[in-house]
Amino acid sequence: MANETNNFQELISHCKEYGYIFQSSELYDGLAAVYDYGQMGSQLKKNIRDYWWKSMTQLQENIVGIDAAIFMHPTVWKASGHVDSFSDPMIDNKDSNKRYRVDHLIEEYAETLDTQARDSLIATMEKLLAADDMVGVKQLIDENKIKCSVSKTSNWTEVRQFNLMFDTQIGSIAGESDKIYLRPETAQGIFVNFLNVQKTGRMKIPFGIAQTGKAFRNEIVARQFIFRMREFEQMEMQFFIRPGTQKQWYDYWKEERLKWHESLGIPASKLRFHDHVKLAHYADAALDIEFEFPFGFKELEGIHSRTDYDLTRHATFSKKKIQYFDNELNEEGKPFGNYTPYVIETSVGLDRLFLTIMSLAYTEEKWLKEDGSDDSRVVLKIPAMIAPTKLAILPLVKKDGLPEIAKELMNECKGSFMCFYEEKDAIGKRYRRMDAIGTPFCVTIDHQTKEDNTVTIRYRDDMRQERILLKDVKKLVLEKLI
Ligand code: ATP
Repeated sequence: MANETNNFQELISHCKEYGYIFQSSELYDGLAAVYDYGQMGSQLKKNIRDYWWKSMTQLQENIVGIDAAIFMHPTVWKASGHVDSFSDPMIDNKDSNKRYRVDHLIEEYAETLDTQARDSLIATMEKLLAADDMVGVKQLIDENKIKCSVSKTSNWTEVRQFNLMFDTQIGSIAGESDKIYLRPETAQGIFVNFLNVQKTGRMKIPFGIAQTGKAFRNEIVARQFIFRMREFEQMEMQFFIRPGTQKQWYDYWKEERLKWHESLGIPASKLRFHDHVKLAHYADAALDIEFEFPFGFKELEGIHSRTDYDLTRHATFSKKKIQYFDNELNEEGKPFGNYTPYVIETSVGLDRLFLTIMSLAYTEEKWLKEDGSDDSRVVLKIPAMIAPTKLAILPLVKKDGLPEIAKELMNECKGSFMCFYEEKDAIGKRYRRMDAIGTPFCVTIDHQTKEDNTVTIRYRDDMRQERILLKDVKKLVLEKLI
């Protein structure tokens, strides 16, 4: 039996070495907290996105998808509240000039305390932040004599709010009136299209609108690889419901989304709910689905009960009526046939889900061979249905007609799933390389293939090998991808 270990720093290096993730603009020494997905990573990311899209649209009767632009009218962000309150409380150390998000600073210090003291400090901090009591937060930092990790002093500025939105200019003349924002969330593109989609799609409440796309936040403390980036991708769904039913739908989506993560092979023991103490300005209930990343339990997805806040605000700012006429309520003879729908939001970060999948998949294995010597490998145990490459097709040697048979198999399979063809190096070396990029199935074509039309199929996770008919390869792989 192989020994397995899991190591975060090793995972980061592995992502670079095997074409999963590169630092953005690495040639120019990189751009902090911005990353590029390479040839393997972009395919894995697409597969995760497609899996989400299919389960949130195709497999639902009442959810449709849209693709709204990143640029939006600047008033959108006034209406949504982002211009005034999309900020994080920050503090600077006067000696090192290093800036911290106060919750991160306090949480990091709390980790050095015993469990009781840590929990009590975090609870006090959450209460102060919920009350927007920044003087109180500063006092808490002072009382605990929390120090800067660089200067090692407690010489702090006051706590200040720092807006996270990036802005830029549209058109040719620079000026305040031309200022637009890079969207900090995809949700607003859904809200401003509520009426368009409802009317053209003849949607009946309850119904949802789903969207995936880039979002941008000027995160001051961007850490932990792709966990917190300045440019990232969200997969969001806004579910429009009758006022008064929000508790029922909030509970429904929270359970549905947890099950969805488990369907991706994430063990239940590594997922948990975390209820918010401090609610965002738009929410009447909120929780995070947290995953146990290599650096602890952290938010993977947010579920928010957003009330009618966004639609009401857009109605006010645009001076347009944004309401739904509920025929069924009308038929039941109930009042309020016309109302502003309430909203339950599910919002998951695609990059964080990517990191979740990779941190579960990355495995270093060591074992003793039959002759008593050591052997080892690094393998990415990515679930087959989302693995970037599904099948490696490997002729044993570059001659005797074996590459021709391999290429024929390649042509038969490549329209159905991603295949990889490789004829260089010894077969063992090729298997290791496929393990390292997470290819779940390898097929080797050898001289026996010419005699009896069979090939060796090798399974990534347990390295088991068996002989199957060449004509059954495609069918077998397709069966395993469900
Ligand atoms: P956090 O508390 O970690 O800053 P948040 O509560 O601000 O996150 P939301 O606004 O609820 O996050 O965004 C929904 C999802 O988008 C998050 O659950 C996360 O998966 C993802 N996300 C948010 N900010 C980032 C970021 N800077 N980098 C990568 N993913 C992010």
